[in-house]
Amino acid sequence: MQETKKCNKCGKELPIDSFYKRALNKDGHMNICKDCFNSQYTDKQKKTNTELDKMLNVRNNSNIKPISKELSSYTPRELIEELRSRGYSGKLQITHTITV
Ligand SMILES: [Zn+2]
Repeated sequence: MQETKKCNKCGKELPIDSFYKRALNKDGHMNICKDCFNSQYTDKQKKTNTELDKMLNVRNNSNIKPISKELSSYTPRELIEELRSRGYSGKLQITHTITV
């Protein structure tokens, strides 16, 4: 019998090899299927690219360091990647507010 797992996103019961491996998870697989993971990732990429374009435009047009409210909606990790991709390096102190 083939092992199956229910996708947390689309709710479909799928064969275990429809899930990417993730050692951190109890069963060694991600909680969402490959399809959902891929579409999520693609959406995120699209969004990031659009925002990045906007920021780059701001920088090119005005020579002002683009400081965007949108940055506050990023996770620290996304922020790091964002800043790196924009050529920043060094230390940045951020205050992270978590609403519980
Ligand atoms: Zn799914």
